[in-house]
Amino acid sequence: MPEKTTDPADLRGDCAQCFGLCCVALPFARSADFAADKPAGTPCSNLRDDHRCGIHARLRQQGFTGCTVYDCFGAGQKVSQVTFGGRDWRGAPKEHARRMFDVFPVVRQLHELLCYLTEALGLPAAAPVHPELRGALEHTERLTRQGPEELAALDVAAHRQEVNVLLLRTSELVRAGATGKGKGKGKAKGKDRRGADLIGARLRGADLRGASLRGACLIAADLTGADLREADLIGADLRDADLTDADLTGAFFLTQPQVNSARGGAGTRLPASVTRPAHWTAAR
Ligand code: SF4
Repeated sequence: MPEKTTDPADLRGDCAQCFGLCCVALPFARSADFAADKPAGTPCSNLRDDHRCGIHARLRQQGFTGCTVYDCFGAGQKVSQVTFGGRDWRGAPKEHARRMFDVFPVVRQLHELLCYLTEALGLPAAAPVHPELRGALEHTERLTRQGPEELAALDVAAHRQEVNVLLLRTSELVRAGATGKGKGKGKAKGKDRRGADLIGARLRGADLRGASLRGACLIAADLTGADLREADLIGADLRDADLTDADLTGAFFLTQPQVNSARGGAGTRLPASVTRPAHWTAAR
């Protein structure tokens, strides 16, 4: 039997197929990203009855930048149309709605893993672990297709840990090739910035080719013109990091929400896995 492959289109949010789950299930804390507090399981006051955002075109101007950055990795449509078979939470019994809101963040985490696994399977340097990655992808897909009760009870943290072992191995293989090239040659050791506190760091023009920036906190870091080719950016916090003219060609495990939360411009080179945010080039 042919192996099931993940369609990349299924790993991007499709709001038209979703019951506005991110605008209901998730909590917000009033901050620079959200203009108001909202508890989990309560609809945002801007959510219309048709599950569309009433201020979609003005989110940034009205203090909801966090909404423009967010992506559910396709979990919204999966939960709405597959897990709950197209049955809306509006007008449904309370227990149905609550279950839906509980399951949504679980499926989002699983879909995020599917994004990483799909990407890893496209990296030639990771070929030695492709069989294991394929197995993990199929297993994770099966998990996303469980019923609401099974999903709500899933130990998603344990599953993430299992997958992470493979993603780490993938990272080592890809970066081993990158740090053997160009001016970064032989400097792999100094490029392990895993979990580093780099808030506001001055990294303008830095040679970070093949670096591990896994989980690094790069909030408001100046990465202007930095060389981030083939860098591992999984979980890196790039909010307000300046990527103007930075080169992220071949950077991996970089998600669209991370890119959306950073600053950049027409001169920023991005990997093919993400698209250039509209607000980077819009008139400021
Ligand atoms: S402001 Fe709009 S996009 Fe953001 S949570 Fe509310 S309804 Fe959703």
